[in-house]
This record gives sequence, C-alpha cells and structure tokens, in this order.
Amino acid sequence: MFLEVKDVKKNYAKTDVLKGISFSVDKGQNLAIVGTSGSGKSTLLYILGALEQAEHGKVVLEGVDISNFSDDELALFRNQFIGFVFQFHFLLPSMNCLDNTLLPAKIGKHNIKEVKARIIKYAIILDVEHCLKKYPFEISGGEQQRINIIRAISLNPKLLLCDEPTGNLDSVNTQKVIKLLQDLAREINSTLIVVTHDGNVSDAFDQKITIEDGQIIS
Ligand code: ADP
Ligand code: MG
Repeated sequence: MFLEVKDVKKNYAKTDVLKGISFSVDKGQNLAIVGTSGSGKSTLLYILGALEQAEHGKVVLEGVDISNFSDDELALFRNQFIGFVFQFHFLLPSMNCLDNTLLPAKIGKHNIKEVKARIIKYAIILDVEHCLKKYPFEISGGEQQRINIIRAISLNPKLLLCDEPTGNLDSVNTQKVIKLLQDLAREINSTLIVVTHDGNVSDAFDQKITIEDGQIIS
C-alpha cells in the first residue's frame, strides 16, 4: 500500500472538521476526493501533504508514519516527496515563471540543470513555454494554473496533490488538465489525488471518495 490514512481527525476552534477519515491508495493509482464546499476536502489534502497536522490518526506513506514528524523532517519530506497544486495560485509576483517553477529545486538539494530541462519539457507539453520568461501578472489565469502544475511536478513527486486544479476552467480545459495530470502522474509513476466538487471530473479516476461534513459517505 502506497498511502494509508487511518482515522484522521482534525478540529479548528473546537469544531470537528474531519471526524475520522480512513482510506488507502495503491502506488500509481489516482483518486478523486469530492464533496460540497466546506466539507473538509482542503483540510484533508493539507494533512496528506504534511502542511497541517491531524489531532488524531495516522498518515502512512510507503510504510513511514508522517504524523509525528518534526517541522524540519516535514519540510524535507514535502520537498522530496510531495507536489502540491493549491486551490488558489501561489506564484510569487516578483519572479518570472521559470524562477517560480525552479523554487522547489532551489530550496532542496537538487540538480538545477536537470530540473530546468524537465520544466521546459513540461512547459512545451502544456503549451506555456512562452510564459517562462514572463512574470505571473503578464499571463492569463489558465496559464498561471499550468505554471503552478509544472512547479508542483518539477521534482517528480511520488505523491501529487491537487486542490480544485480546474476550479476556474471551462469544461473543455477541465478535461484537458485532468487528462494531463493523469498522464504526467503515470509517466513519473506518481500517485495522484485530486480534490474536486465536479462530479464529471471525478468519474475519470480509479477511485473516488465522497466527503460530507468531515466524514466519508461513499
Ligand atoms: P472544503 O475544501 O471542502 O471547502 P475546508 O477543508 O476548506 O473545506 O474547510 C472545512 C471546514 O473547516 C469549513 O467549515 C471551514 O470554515 C473550516 N476551516 C478550514 N480551515 C480553517 C482554519 N484555518 N481555521 C478555522 N476553520 C477552518
Ligand atoms: Mg477547499
């Protein structure tokens, strides 16, 4: 088993946001997490990505329990194993898109040349090569989204987590981005987890879980 989530509970200000979530994903499989707004999807994804810690339960990745890592261990772990596409784009406005996508490589100890070659390859596939020298404000929202995806996959993460990656796209571009994420994940043998509230999107995944009010209902 690649990822095991066992009875994860999380609360904010005494409100139970996740009430005991358990599921597992095999290596290379993809999973859609669906649910209405406020059901706890982003919170769950943050816990899987080690950006938040659960009060209760375990997240085990390739046999390693990440629930009790120290902050330093978590930072290293995130950099080496996880790619995260945020619901709201976090490109730094003061850097061009290439430098934005190179940030993860510069934070960790990585071969910059190799990563850069990979970024250019992905940019060609995603049709945003012309954006690399530009600043985020000079490109469209859809292009920013694709630059975000490239940054998230730049280090070939074993686990690729995407929070509503098609939130602002029309149905044609939504299908394109989902197919692309799945193809890329397959190519780099990464496990893909996508949060969405779009039922049409989730049909294209190996597995699907539905969350309502902090619990898995199907
Ligand atoms: P979703 O992504 O499914 O829309 P979220 O995981 O963002 O849901 O939020 C689930 C619930 O947790 C919501 O009621 C939200 O208001 C609450 N919540 C999320 N993040 C925080 C936070 N940092 N502090 C307090 N409450 C939060
Ligand atoms: Mg959300």
